[in-house]
Amino acid sequence: MRLLRKLLLFLILVNVIGLSGAAVLCAAKNSPPAEQKFEAIKIRYNSFMADSEQWSKRTRWESLIREFDDLARYYPHSKRADDSLYLSGGLYFSLYNYSGWSSDLQQAAKRYKMLLDNYGESRLADDAMFYLGNIAFKLKDEKQAQTWWRRLLSDFPDTDMRQRAVAALEKLETSAQPSSAKQPSRKDPRVTKAQSRKKPSQQSTTVKVEARFNNSAPVVGLARVIDLRHWSSPTYTRVVLDLDREIQFSKGILKDKGNQKKTKSIYLNLADSMIPEVSREVPINDGILQSVKVAQFNANTVRAVIHVAEIDHYKIFALNNPPRIVIDVIGGEYFNARQKRGQSPAATFTAAANNNLSLAQQLGLGVGTIVLDAGHGGRDPGAISSCGLKEKDIVLDITKRVRDELQKRLQCHVYLTRENDVYLPLEERTVIANTRKADLFISIHANASRNRSAHGVETYFLNLSTDNEAMELAALENATSTKNVGHLQSILNDLMQNSKIKESSRLAGCIQASLVGNLSRSYQPINNLGVKQAPFYVLIGAQMPSVLVEVSFISNAMEAQRLQSSTYRQRIAEGLVDGVEKYINEIKVAGHRIVN
Ligand SMILES: [Zn+2]
Repeated sequence: MRLLRKLLLFLILVNVIGLSGAAVLCAAKNSPPAEQKFEAIKIRYNSFMADSEQWSKRTRWESLIREFDDLARYYPHSKRADDSLYLSGGLYFSLYNYSGWSSDLQQAAKRYKMLLDNYGESRLADDAMFYLGNIAFKLKDEKQAQTWWRRLLSDFPDTDMRQRAVAALEKLETSAQPSSAKQPSRKDPRVTKAQSRKKPSQQSTTVKVEARFNNSAPVVGLARVIDLRHWSSPTYTRVVLDLDREIQFSKGILKDKGNQKKTKSIYLNLADSMIPEVSREVPINDGILQSVKVAQFNANTVRAVIHVAEIDHYKIFALNNPPRIVIDVIGGEYFNARQKRGQSPAATFTAAANNNLSLAQQLGLGVGTIVLDAGHGGRDPGAISSCGLKEKDIVLDITKRVRDELQKRLQCHVYLTRENDVYLPLEERTVIANTRKADLFISIHANASRNRSAHGVETYFLNLSTDNEAMELAALENATSTKNVGHLQSILNDLMQNSKIKESSRLAGCIQASLVGNLSRSYQPINNLGVKQAPFYVLIGAQMPSVLVEVSFISNAMEAQRLQSSTYRQRIAEGLVDGVEKYINEIKVAGHRIVN
C-alpha cells in the first residue's frame, strides 16, 4: 500500500514537472487551439470507455484525467475548459464505481467545484451542482447533498436537471422520516405493476411461471418482496424479484455437499426485507432452472435460492422504478450451441468462406436469428410530437418494415418483441432475445429533446457514459427520470465483463453509417449524430451484439413530418437493413483475411 502511494506520488510529480515543461513549449510554438486538443483527447476517451478490458487499469483512468485537467489548466479561457473539468470529474466519479475509494469521489467533487467557481455561466454548471449533491450523498453527508440540490433549484430554475434534483431531495426527505411513515412510491405512471405482468405474445418456447405473494400488511421498516417472475429456456434463465423499495443485497454460490442431482444453487440475501409468507418454492425443472425458493432467512433478511443445472455464467443486478432485482443464469450449453452454429465470427467465415452460403447462413451457419424490439407500447407511448404523433406507433411500423426487409434480403429468422400495441417491461424484451438465442438484437426508437431544433440519427450501444445528453436519453428510455446515474454505472461495471461491447459498437457503426447514407440520398438535411454509448436497461444482459437506434427526432417539426410519411419510414428500414448487411459482410471479409 505504502509502495503504491509512493508510486502514485512519483507519477504525479513526474507529471507535474513534465507537463509544465510541455506547456512552456506549447506557448512558444503557438500551440494548436484547445479545440483540437480536446477533440484528440475525446477520441482516446471514447475508445477507453468502449473497451472494458482497460477499466481495471487505474493508470489508464488517471492518464485521461490528467489530459483533461491539463487542458483546463493551460487553456483556461478556451471554450473547452469547462467541458474538460466536467469530463475529468466524471472520470473520477466513474472510477470510484470501480475502485470504491472515497478519495476518487473527493477528486471528482474538486473538479466540479472548480467548474462552478470559474465557469459559473457554463451550460454544465447545473450538472456539476447536481453531481456534487450525489457525491455528498455517497459520502454520507446528507446535509451537504441537500444544500447542493437546493442551490441547484434556486440558482438554475429552468435547468433540465431540475426534475432529478427534486426527486433526489424527495428521496432524501423520505429516508429521513421515521420508518413507519415510509411508503413505496411509484411515480412513473408508465411502470405500474398490473402492466408489467403482461406476457409477450410470441414466447412459445419460453416457459413463464408467475408466483404472486399475497400482499398483507407491511411489517414496519422492512422492504417487502411482492412478486417473483421468471422465464426459462433450455439455455438461459432470468428471474426477477419485485420489491416495494430499493434494498441492498449480497450474493453467492451455495455448495450442497450431499447433492445427488448435482444441481447448483445461487443465493441472494436481501437486507432489511420480509416476505409476506413463510416461504415459497416454485419447482420448474425446465432447461437449466430447476426451482426458485424465496424464504425469510432471519428476522430482517429474505433469502432467494435459485437451483440450476449449470452456473457457467450468472449475473445479478438491481433496476429501479419499480425496484427489482434481476438474476440472469446462462448455461454452458448456450455457448456450446453458439459454437456449433459457428457464432465466433472468424470461425464461421473461415468455414463458410469457400461455400456458396447465403448471408443468413453465414450469419449463424444454417439460419441466422435477429430479434427486433419496437420501443415502448401500450400505456407507454414513448415520446409524443406536438401534433400527437406517438413514438410507439412510429417505431412499430418501422420495425415491421425492417423485419420484412430482413426476411426478404437475408432470409433469416426475425422475431419481434411486440407485434402490436402492448406494454412490455424492458427486462422482458432482453429475455426474448436471449431465449431465442438471437445473433443480433436491435431496439428501435424515435428520439426526443427539449431542444426542438435538435434533429438527426444516432445509434447506441450499452456502455458507461459521462455524456450528459446520452445519460438524459437513457433516463428517458429507461422510463426512470429519477434514475441514480452512479448506481446504474456501478451495476454496469460488474455486468460489462462478458458483454459484447466491441461487436455491438461495430454493429452500431454499420447501422449508423448505412442509415445516414441511405436517408441522405432522398432527404436533406440528415444530421449524423454518430455512434454513442449509454446505459440502456433494454440492452443489459443481452448475450449477443445489441444496439438501440434512434431513427429521428419526433420532437423536431421537420423530422416528425417526415416520420409521418411511409416512404421515409421505408427508407429508414432499408438503411437499417443495409447496416446489418454491411456488418455481416465485414465479418466475412475478416474471415477471409484470417484464411489468407
Ligand atoms: Zn424510445
